[in-house]
Amino acid sequence: MRRVGAHLSTAGGYTKAVDRAIDIGANALQIFSGSPRTWKRKPINNEELQELTQYAFSKDVRPLFVHALYLVNLVSDNTESVQKSKNVIIHELEFTSKIQGAGLVVHVGSHQGRGWEAVKEDLFLLLKNIFSEASGDAPFLIENSAGQKGKLHSDLGEVRETLDAVDSPRLGWCYDTCHGWAAGYSATEQDDPDRQDLFAALEKYDLWDSLKCIHVNDSRDPFNSHRDRHENIGEGSIPAEELAAILNHPKLKDVPIITEVPGFDGKKSPDAENISRLRNIVQ
Ligand SMILES: [Zn+2]
Ligand SMILES: [Zn+2]
Repeated sequence: MRRVGAHLSTAGGYTKAVDRAIDIGANALQIFSGSPRTWKRKPINNEELQELTQYAFSKDVRPLFVHALYLVNLVSDNTESVQKSKNVIIHELEFTSKIQGAGLVVHVGSHQGRGWEAVKEDLFLLLKNIFSEASGDAPFLIENSAGQKGKLHSDLGEVRETLDAVDSPRLGWCYDTCHGWAAGYSATEQDDPDRQDLFAALEKYDLWDSLKCIHVNDSRDPFNSHRDRHENIGEGSIPAEELAAILNHPKLKDVPIITEVPGFDGKKSPDAENISRLRNIVQ
């Protein structure tokens, strides 16, 4: 059965996220290792993490993904912020490795107006250093962005350049349907002269095999709006046929799905209705 998962809370302990996944009918899971809005991380507790993995796998909730905290900016113009980002990513990679995670999904950061060309060499070097220092084997997955406020990797060519320059088997990427839609990529025809064909871009940049996770979110904002606000599946501006075209593409049909939608019950978390809508879309 297709892996249809959700980003869920670990409140009460990591294994509680597995229970929440089962409750809503999900069979894959993404979590934060700690609060996404603070730098502080508690030391890695091998037993606790082993318990999470054993429990999740025994319930057939897999693969597991970790989403890095939101404060990370690997290309900040503030060197202290870059150092903090580097240290926390090394921690997150070790955490992901300990839970046998399929990847750490990262919003790499913002060039803060300086542009991709101005920051890319520093980014490539930093990523190489991260891979040489982080223990374990967890993949680092670059998430495409909506391109708001100088966020990197809204252009899929930047993903290709990063993969080539860093040249590590641990580097892959994650496509977020809300972000791609907002950045002007679609798999179906849209009435916009600046539309970029998603599959043509994946082909041009040879980004099929390195794609390890699809974040499936609807969008509160229009196509090519460069805004990043997730909406429940079927309630936003992305047509069902667009999501179906992506999720059921022959080259993508084995890629695990994670949804990060707000849910219908006001709890700001994916729910059973969203998982069920996704199951109706995937073949
Ligand atoms: Zn996402
Ligand atoms: Zn987003």
